[in-house]
Amino acid sequence: MKCMICKNGETRPGTVTATLHRGETIVLVKGTPAEVCENCGEYYLDEAVARKLYALAEEAARRHAEVEILRYAA
Ligand SMILES: [Zn+2]
Repeated sequence: MKCMICKNGETRPGTVTATLHRGETIVLVKGTPAEVCENCGEYYLDEAVARKLYALAEEAARRHAEVEILRYAA
């Protein structure tokens, strides 16, 4: 699809390190499948992936973690 940020690039399937903020907690999820813009690097998550990431962030926030680095597991 066309990138919505730079309106120039096309997105390609790839993986990213997604960053989520949940209150005071920051969660980094490596190897997250996403559509990545070949021009500006912006990434787009599909709904199922986004839901999974939010669940991980919620969990980390409940543990009162400051920063958590996780690996995406399908
Ligand atoms: Zn772009």
